[in-house]
Amino acid sequence: MDSSIEREHEAISIGVLTSGGDAPGMNAAVRAVVRSALNRGAKVFAIREGYQGMVDGGDAIRPMKWRDTAGILQRGGTIIGTARCPAFRERAGRLSAAQNLLVHGIDRIVVIGGDGSLTGADTFRREWPGLLDELVAGGRIPRALADAHPQLGIVGLVGSIDNDFCGTDMTIGADTALHRIIEAIDAISSTAASHQRTFIIEVMGRNCGYLALAGAIAGGADWVLLPEIPPQDGWEDQMCALLRAGRAAGRRDSIVVVAEGARDRAGRPITSEAVQHILEEQLNVEVRVTILGHVQRGGAPSAYDRWMSSLLGVEAVELLLGTSPSSEPCLIGIQNNRIVRAPLMHCVAETRAVPQAVAAGNFERVMQLRGADFAELHEVFEAMARALPDQGSRGGRRIAVMHGGAPAPGMNTAVRAVVRLALEHGHDVHAVRNGFIGLAAGNIEPFNWGSVDGWGPQGGALLGTNRHLPTADEIALCAGQMQAHAIDGLIVIGGWSGYVAADTLRAARVLHPELDIPIVCLPVSIDNNLPGSDFSVGADTALNAIVRVIDMIKQSAIASQHRAFVVEVMGHYCGYLAVMAGLASGAEHIYTHEQGICMADLQRDLARMIESFEKGNRLSLMVRNEAANKLYTTPFMCAMFEEEGGAHFDVRNTVLGHMQQGGDPSPEDRVRATQLAARAVGFFGEQFAYGRRDAVMIGHQHGDVVMTPLKNFYDLGDMTFDRPKEQWWMSLLKVAELLEHAR
Ligand code: ADP
Repeated sequence: MDSSIEREHEAISIGVLTSGGDAPGMNAAVRAVVRSALNRGAKVFAIREGYQGMVDGGDAIRPMKWRDTAGILQRGGTIIGTARCPAFRERAGRLSAAQNLLVHGIDRIVVIGGDGSLTGADTFRREWPGLLDELVAGGRIPRALADAHPQLGIVGLVGSIDNDFCGTDMTIGADTALHRIIEAIDAISSTAASHQRTFIIEVMGRNCGYLALAGAIAGGADWVLLPEIPPQDGWEDQMCALLRAGRAAGRRDSIVVVAEGARDRAGRPITSEAVQHILEEQLNVEVRVTILGHVQRGGAPSAYDRWMSSLLGVEAVELLLGTSPSSEPCLIGIQNNRIVRAPLMHCVAETRAVPQAVAAGNFERVMQLRGADFAELHEVFEAMARALPDQGSRGGRRIAVMHGGAPAPGMNTAVRAVVRLALEHGHDVHAVRNGFIGLAAGNIEPFNWGSVDGWGPQGGALLGTNRHLPTADEIALCAGQMQAHAIDGLIVIGGWSGYVAADTLRAARVLHPELDIPIVCLPVSIDNNLPGSDFSVGADTALNAIVRVIDMIKQSAIASQHRAFVVEVMGHYCGYLAVMAGLASGAEHIYTHEQGICMADLQRDLARMIESFEKGNRLSLMVRNEAANKLYTTPFMCAMFEEEGGAHFDVRNTVLGHMQQGGDPSPEDRVRATQLAARAVGFFGEQFAYGRRDAVMIGHQHGDVVMTPLKNFYDLGDMTFDRPKEQWWMSLLKVAELLEHAR
């Protein structure tokens, strides 16, 4: 860094506070703010218990050092405390707050909270010059101090489990809350299925139905009730008819998800008790209500809430140090998978307009404010709910669904969604077992609604999958089977070799006209190595599994003195899991094949480790991709660090292995799988209608679902190392580096 900039930053003091309701991931954001501010040469202070600490001053505003944020990434809640502070709502309270900040020269603050906290911050910023004049006039601060800090800089990050904020696609804590909800729905589904019971699950969300909607999709619920989209009149009968039909088709459990703020078209609340009453009356069954309450707020943050909140915190500091404090206050959020800056008060105003529009019954405006993604999620849920068991082929076409590539969590979720949505569109579905080996051998059978009952939350691949690539003879056999089973469209749900095999069929169309049909490849791979998609289904589950194990490894180290861990993660040659797991778990060193490993790196890292242990650090964590270097293997690295580290520390190696491919899919992976399946089925409909035969890879790119021609696979992919040529996450290595190494 330019030393003049560094000197300039030395004079800057930043305050960080968490305010309003706590949310998992707030600690990751605080850590990122503290560490990036220190790395940029600024001073940074934690303001404890939200605005209360600012009003109280004294010990509640504490300078933060690097190590003060060690070991907090994996902790729920907020280590700097949060509170509601009525005093800050009054000018007198804000006057004291201004004085207390100036004691430390703080004139830039990062507020992590909800709309109330961010509104308070904006009021404070606007009043700042007047507050300072008043403090000077009252003799509480010298004029020179006021003149040195004429403006207050504000950056807001949204901490809210509800995901209720306009201007950011996700709020800090929402993904973790969804994890808690899905854990509960899965647990309740299994007991409900054993007793053939009907359950109502009430989730948080007074004005925002995101948790209920995403929870209902991911949990495979039958019905959902939201604040933003009141059900049509007569919904009670529709709901009961749907549940009855599910039971008649052999479904053993029924789940209705109710957002706490659900209401009808007249604005009257729809309570869980009311829904229970309706179901018991009409269906004559026992109905249990579970209100999830505060469990949704608690627990360790998900991998996403750790890495996303870290990126937000880094960007907040970039903004505060890059602009003069007089600039308009900004919200740092995430839009279309990119960190963005948005005008704070515009976002607050839009957020507040939602409940007003709901109260006024202006639901069109509500959906406008919620955005296209929310509307699409709702459509996906509705389509899944409409997919009734008795819907067979209604003159549609026949779609074959199969896997290819390594198993990954979310494969079953995607198959379930394809089957039910294709049936709902009037098509019929054949399932191919055992990948392309099964296709060549004719291991194909018709699937109905009940064939995939209970598949949504299950990990693994019930249809069977493998990495087999069909030979020329097998391609001819596949073509024969396509003809024999009258297949009109093919969807391959899987990973790299599934894509290669699907493209082989596409390329063989000239020889085998039976293969001249629409083909969709839907990305499911823990490696996240598929071109045409920023995220593949399965990668989020694997990342969460890795991060949970690393949490345990870290805890085991509490008993020992100085210990270094090398954790080896999967990914083949693709560094996604290593980079993201390293970022989400606070690894000091991340090794990828893309960057390679050389002896100089290992020596530098060894020296850094020795230095950090000498400074009092007790644990060092390294995350290494399994193929980072062929010769400098994990055992080699451990042996080298152990020998060269001498008495400074000992080293343990953990190779995580196949647990990363297992596990029930995360909420994010379930929602993504269902959304992509819905788009894929829509694509087939268009292809059949217009007589087209395109072969595509479907995937999320910058937040949108995009179809990329399958023939581009070879241009977009690095064929030597089975990974995309463009890897958006590689740039995050420098963020991980920034957060791990004090300058
Ligand atoms: P959230 O930030 O989660 O919406 P609250 O609305 O309770 O939570 O706000 C948290 C704190 O922010 C309040 O206790 C108060 O100190 C401060 N605050 C909220 N609204 C305002 C306001 N309009 N003016 C000043 N301070 C406010």
